[in-house]
Amino acid sequence: MATYDYDLFIIGAGSGGVRAARVAASHGARVGICEEYRVGGTCVIRGCIPKKLLVYGAHYGEDFEDAAAFGWTAGPARFDWSTLIANKDTEIDRLNRVYIDLLRDAGVNLFEVRGALEDAHTVAMEGRTVSAETVLIATGAAPVKPEVPGVEHTITSNEAFHLESLPGRIVIIGGGYIACEFASIFNGLGSAVVQLYRGAQILRGFDDDVRSVLAQEMRKKGVDIRVDHQARHFEPTAEGIEITLSDGTQMSADVVMCATGRAPITAGIGLSAAGVALNPRGAVVVDEFSQSSVSNIYAVGDVTDRKNLTPVALNEGLAFAETVYGGRPRKIDHDNVASAVFSLPNVGSVGLTEAEARERLTDVDIYKSTFRPLRHTLSKRDEMTMMKLIVDVASQRVVGAHMVGPDAAEIIQGLAIAVKMGATKADFDATVGIHPSAAEEFVTMRQKFVEPVAEAAE
Ligand code: FAD
Repeated sequence: MATYDYDLFIIGAGSGGVRAARVAASHGARVGICEEYRVGGTCVIRGCIPKKLLVYGAHYGEDFEDAAAFGWTAGPARFDWSTLIANKDTEIDRLNRVYIDLLRDAGVNLFEVRGALEDAHTVAMEGRTVSAETVLIATGAAPVKPEVPGVEHTITSNEAFHLESLPGRIVIIGGGYIACEFASIFNGLGSAVVQLYRGAQILRGFDDDVRSVLAQEMRKKGVDIRVDHQARHFEPTAEGIEITLSDGTQMSADVVMCATGRAPITAGIGLSAAGVALNPRGAVVVDEFSQSSVSNIYAVGDVTDRKNLTPVALNEGLAFAETVYGGRPRKIDHDNVASAVFSLPNVGSVGLTEAEARERLTDVDIYKSTFRPLRHTLSKRDEMTMMKLIVDVASQRVVGAHMVGPDAAEIIQGLAIAVKMGATKADFDATVGIHPSAAEEFVTMRQKFVEPVAEAAE
């Protein structure tokens, strides 16, 4: 029988890789892991965590403005980008060290270098190779820019976290969650923000009411969202960068950020030499146990392009390690995974959108509520919250819950348990609300929303 240096070797120490490493080691496996950038991966180093810290920072502008209506007087508010970025970096450095310690304490061997497969059982790293019985690919995904002349003068979210100063004018290209979040961050911190999106409405894939309400609320806060617009050319100028749009018009900005999608990192890491099948988007094809087309090679997280979220990568890493080393085969259920957009205001969603429900189910009832949050009755801020439930008429189950408004992520996380458990509308109705809260609206919506019928012409 072949003997290997490691039972398991993992390429990529992000959410999925680190979780798999720790759990496998806890079951007695000899584990090695390599990381080419910083341990912790996208979420910790340049994704969820630093992003949310910046979102908190961006909200203070409104909080200072609203405070006066509650009797507070303070000096004029001033914002300092370098303080926020330095404090954010200190926290990210701390988390990076925590992740390194977690690996060390679990007995995992960490190599802080790039790794690539030489064959199905061999990983090459800067002049050395190690062998492993099983290999886990957990390399994540990277931002993709559109193929437009001059695009090299633009940045992505990776660089947005390290800008030397707050841009006075920023153009953000894209309509997905990362684009909306960064548009909200820069707008909240005081930049003039234009968000360009080539489609008809931002947040493709989310419920249509969520999409239109978020666009409306972001516009009210000052983000200049321009849909059906595409950038055709970028030209650096003395003042910044000039953008030519598909309709021939031009605009200028200090910084242009592309948030135009992410692609799995599978090139140049020896996957084809090892015989690992990729799908047309370049993601590793895996079965429900995260096993690739080569039996000793597994893959978890964004590199498999299933549901590209941190908790999903964590669960896939856990399920892989439990299956292979814990003797407890575990599949991942990708249904009803709740998600959020940390735009201002926030979005929270779980289950089917109205369009998906209408496509899959015979009959659906819609419950919808739009209201001004209580605190804004005093602040007079023109911001609306929207909540929506989608019910399958046949089973009476709530198959979708969506919200745009403050704390939407926190509220939807709780509701996700009910939706996952198959709660019916009657179960929601039988739940007594917490008053006064925004969340209570989810258990007090009784009026079915009926699509307004166009008046017949006289
Ligand atoms: P990653 O965490 O990306 O880890 C992969 C690691 O592999 C990286 O550290 C990389 O450097 C390393 N690597 C790659 N190639 C090699 C190689 N050849 N050798 C060695 N190491 C290598 N998700 C949420 O759930 N909520 C959010 O709010 C959220 N916000 C986000 C905001 C932004 C701006 C971005 C970009 C992403 C966000 N995500 C969010 C997505 C989330 O970060 C990812 O889904 C998650 O990090 C995926 O984990 P992973 O383990 O698959 O990959």
